Amino acid sequence: MAGVSKQGSHAVDVIIVGAGITGQVAAGLLAREGLQVALIDAQETAKAAQDALPDPRALAITPASRQILDAVGAWSRMDPRRIGHFRKMDVWDENGRGEIHFDSADVCRPTLGYIIESTILTRALTAAIRNESRVSWYQPAQLRSLDVESGQAVVSLDDGRCITARLVIAADGKDSLTRSLAGIGFVRHEYEQAALACIVRTEKAHGDTARQRFLSDGTLAFLPMNDAHECGIVWSILPEQVQALLKLETTAFQRELEATLEMRLGAVTASGPSMHYPLGHGSAERYIGDRLALIGDAAHVVHPLAGQGANLGILDAAALAQVVTETYRRGRDIGDRQVLRRYERWRRGDDQFMMHVMTGFKELFTRQTPPLPQLRNLGLRITDRLPPVKHYLMEYAMGIRGDIPDVARVREAPG
Ligand SMILES: Cc1cc2nc3c(=O)[nH]c(=O)nc-3n(C[C@H](O)[C@H](O)[C@H](O)COP(=O)(O)OP(=O)(O)OC[C@H]3O[C@@H](n4cnc5c(N)ncnc54)[C@H](O)[C@@H]3O)c2cc1C
Repeated sequence: MAGVSKQGSHAVDVIIVGAGITGQVAAGLLAREGLQVALIDAQETAKAAQDALPDPRALAITPASRQILDAVGAWSRMDPRRIGHFRKMDVWDENGRGEIHFDSADVCRPTLGYIIESTILTRALTAAIRNESRVSWYQPAQLRSLDVESGQAVVSLDDGRCITARLVIAADGKDSLTRSLAGIGFVRHEYEQAALACIVRTEKAHGDTARQRFLSDGTLAFLPMNDAHECGIVWSILPEQVQALLKLETTAFQRELEATLEMRLGAVTASGPSMHYPLGHGSAERYIGDRLALIGDAAHVVHPLAGQGANLGILDAAALAQVVTETYRRGRDIGDRQVLRRYERWRRGDDQFMMHVMTGFKELFTRQTPPLPQLRNLGLRITDRLPPVKHYLMEYAMGIRGDIPDVARVREAPG
């Protein structure tokens, strides 16, 4: 229930700090179940989306995430002409001839996932959540303090406003201030890699196929957009190589890109600005605190090589929303430690598993000491001939395997 408390603070059911993808998804899921939510962000989300700040990242979104985005009303707000489908995926190694191919038809699904520009997704989410009367927006607003008093979480903002709730959700990204204020540690490992992202046009049609080449010191991914000749690229390499690439003339950069993809899509034309991102991985020591739960990058950061960071965060938001709304419907305390523990037990293992798999892949493919390249290539060739293993990998990466939240279940195969 929302209202004004004795001290003049705004009382809601849940306070969410961070209105990125995961914070907005959590807000939408809780509000549709009748909970009053305060959503705080240091930036003006709608303005940032309107200004279309250059974020050339194209995100791979799983069918499970699509279900959740649909439930909060964001999916239908995206122009279908801006949503790419990847039905196939080719993965190969720079050092050797091993190759593995995935095809959604092998698991009787129309698609392995979707490719959407980060800005388009955030804009659709904001439009959907702004429509929700149970969500009060606080932005731009910085968190100043977080306390727990008399069974209530009390959040004060830099502009002097104060909000109280039974539960606070930290969705404020990898450098989460909420997490620090709650005294929860974060074990961080910096990769000696950075990622360069941009949108390119290709001479040959991509055929709805995502392509990923493992390089000696990184990975290059071409992600198929809706336009048959447009791809989002994510190129993870040494930070100094990223700097060198950014200094190249456009044509030299394009030649470098097409050569690294071994001309599989012919000539490449960069069609937008490039941005680069430092890469690391890490995990919060705990996902919960006193009337606090962490979701998304505030809880874990994974390497982008399999495009899972936002997908894991969306699943966190859905799992937490499910646990909280079940408790709310029974009239119990949604910030109770036992309730939050259910969420932590549910999600932490899955998130950690994915983080270790990504780190393992990165290590496996960047080590060049013989006989590792030979064994790696053999492994790729053998796996390519093992349908059950490939099916498992595909379904896991699509987010449709394991203990997933009800709202994420793919009821019918969406196209
Ligand atoms: C190159 C690259 C490619 C990627 N590709 C993919 C992909 O294909 N698929 C995929 O699933 N994932 C991908 N990811 C990962 C994905 O982008 C992130 O996991 C996801 O965006 C995290 O979302 P979030 O909402 O948890 O955090 P964030 O996006 O970091 O949002 C945090 C929000 O909190 C706000 N905030 C921060 N501090 C405060 C504060 N003190 N007070 C108030 N508000 C605050 C910020 O303004 C921001 O709006 C990729 C990442 C990179 C770097």
